[in-house]
Amino acid sequence: MGEGGPPAAAASIAPLMTDPLTTAHAPSSPEADERVDAGFDPPRSAPRASEPSATSMLALQAQSILSEVFGYPRFRGQQQAVVEAVAAGGDALVLMPTGGGKSLCYQVPAILRHRRGQGVTVVVSPLIALMHDQVGALEEAGVHAAFLNSTLSLEDTQRVEREMMSGRLVLLYAAPERVTTPRFLAQLDSLHERGLLSLFAIDEAHCVSQWGHDFREDYLALDVLHTRFAGVPRLALTATADDATRRDIVERLQLESAQTFIASFDRPNIRYQIVEKDNARAQLLRFLRDEHADASGTDAGIVYCQSRKKVEETAAWLNDEGIAALPYHAGLDADLRRRHQDRFLREEGLVMVATIAFGMGIDKPDVRFVAHLDLPKNIEAYYQETGRAGRDGLPASAWMAYGLADVVNQRRMIDDGPADEEFKRAQRGKLDALLALAEAHDCRRVRLLAYFGETSEPCNTVWQHACDNCRQPPATWNATEAARKALSCIYRFQQAAGGSSGRFGAGHLIDVLRGKLTDKVRQHGHDTLSTWGLGADLSETQWRSVLRQLIALGHLAAEGEYGTLVLTEGSRAVLRGEVPLHLRQVSDNLSRGSRREGRASSSGRAAGGKPPPIALDPDALERFQSLKAWRSEVAREHNLPAYVVFHDAALAEMARSRPQGLDALGGIPGVGAKKLEAYGEEILRLLRT
Ligand code: ADP
Ligand code: ZN
Repeated sequence: MGEGGPPAAAASIAPLMTDPLTTAHAPSSPEADERVDAGFDPPRSAPRASEPSATSMLALQAQSILSEVFGYPRFRGQQQAVVEAVAAGGDALVLMPTGGGKSLCYQVPAILRHRRGQGVTVVVSPLIALMHDQVGALEEAGVHAAFLNSTLSLEDTQRVEREMMSGRLVLLYAAPERVTTPRFLAQLDSLHERGLLSLFAIDEAHCVSQWGHDFREDYLALDVLHTRFAGVPRLALTATADDATRRDIVERLQLESAQTFIASFDRPNIRYQIVEKDNARAQLLRFLRDEHADASGTDAGIVYCQSRKKVEETAAWLNDEGIAALPYHAGLDADLRRRHQDRFLREEGLVMVATIAFGMGIDKPDVRFVAHLDLPKNIEAYYQETGRAGRDGLPASAWMAYGLADVVNQRRMIDDGPADEEFKRAQRGKLDALLALAEAHDCRRVRLLAYFGETSEPCNTVWQHACDNCRQPPATWNATEAARKALSCIYRFQQAAGGSSGRFGAGHLIDVLRGKLTDKVRQHGHDTLSTWGLGADLSETQWRSVLRQLIALGHLAAEGEYGTLVLTEGSRAVLRGEVPLHLRQVSDNLSRGSRREGRASSSGRAAGGKPPPIALDPDALERFQSLKAWRSEVAREHNLPAYVVFHDAALAEMARSRPQGLDALGGIPGVGAKKLEAYGEEILRLLRT
């Protein structure tokens, strides 16, 4: 996909190495590495030391930093190409999905260039809340980093500035409004004059684009980095993939000569599931209990709802059901919001029930599921929201329940919105694309990626993260006749009323089709229509499913506050019987469960059950739990989220392989030199008992 070829050797920085190459930790066993990186690109062969070119020197150094500092055996996907390009002094634009590993793309070059005496890397980040944890993680790994923002005292600010001005600091995080102040720019001038301004990393670079919803005025002023500090390499990073945004970034940040690296936007470890809404709460509960809970508790996850009220009600209800949940929405007091966010990041196994106000910049790596109780606005939003699951590369779920009412609701919000007609048309188009994804019979992943212009193969069905449709292809039925009955009934409503006022919603239509004599039916004399009782062979649930799919396919439209059904251009062909309709079959046992999966599978995979991050036997599981308890204590002492100390994957691997000495422990992915020194002995002691 991307065009991230190897960078040209940069002569200017060639022989300036100030430190000897450190040897990489050898990975403990090949399986260990595969597990951690499952689903990502195949291992690259290590660069060979025999070619003394500048490029291979850089590659070697980058590799050594990756394993020594971060404890990872290999780069993922395009990381290596990006790191080499930037370390060599080139500009780059990196488009990588959430969880793709953008941070290492600038952290490794920052360390590398600092070791070569090139000074400080300035990271521009819009998210003040995140800086603290990122800096904490770097310091844990032994990298001297700091942030400047409004939460610091004057004293701390001065201390950080001193560290920066001395060039000792490797990475400095700052918000854009700080970076563009005259005072800060003057400090950068001084660093620049002394050759100690190494690199600019501009995170969340899509904030510069007015197309996106995250637009920030302050980002526009960042072009000063180019005009004032010519020659200092710049790296812009974003997870927003569309063309318009990309063009905006290049233009506004003057990155015309930057190399562009585009990663695949597939999230291979996320399992997509979309279920028909019946009793959404019961369905959610079943999903959580079957797939994300065990005796030790529930996984950490996010449940998205549309309204503030529903957020509060759902959180309260989950707590009643014994699942620890916190509400989050823009109507809550700022302080409470911050507290809830903090708890979600720091504690284990909490469920955040939230409106879309929650999520931007949440980089908690072990969010195991994202559930939607209401339909998102469009596919972009769905992708972004579900993308918050599984940043650590371990199995995670994206689960959504949706029904006819959601469709009607979303349409109404568009119709009633203040936007002009052209904008509304675009929004309706985007909603339709989402509905088509929800109603799809085929691979969800393929559809999702196709929406972003990427071609892909259907999920491999023996693969545990395969989407619901690939794991168990949905049954379809020939619904042509049923659809004609429904559409002609709507047509008769209009005729009976003499045109304009004959508009009714789904509930009434289904009553007429099924021959249910209600007051409303009597009042309008609809029991005299030729379509009266014509659809008694289908249940109400089945009729709802038919109507929803007709809407999704554009053969029917729902309008206005009450979701009245109206015929469309696309209805005609169906009425004439020119379009055979094969629709998804509704499972009759909806009330008993979301579609049961696994039973029909031939791969021998267990049906349901919370997948452990890494398969562990009971003894290892016990060791894993005690390592987690130990990690919680360390995290509390350091006032950092637990994952900053070690990821689950690293702890699980320790528990599984039970390393006997420091060397073996250091070979586990995620255990860098500093952490080995700080915690190694203690972990070995824990593993012995
Ligand atoms: P992004 O910012 O793109 O969403 P992050 O930089 O937060 O992603 O990385 C996501 C996760 O992947 C982090 O937990 C990180 O430690 C891990 N990761 C990144 N690169 C590697 C790698 N080469 N090997 C193993 N883990 C990695
Ligand atoms: Zn699939």
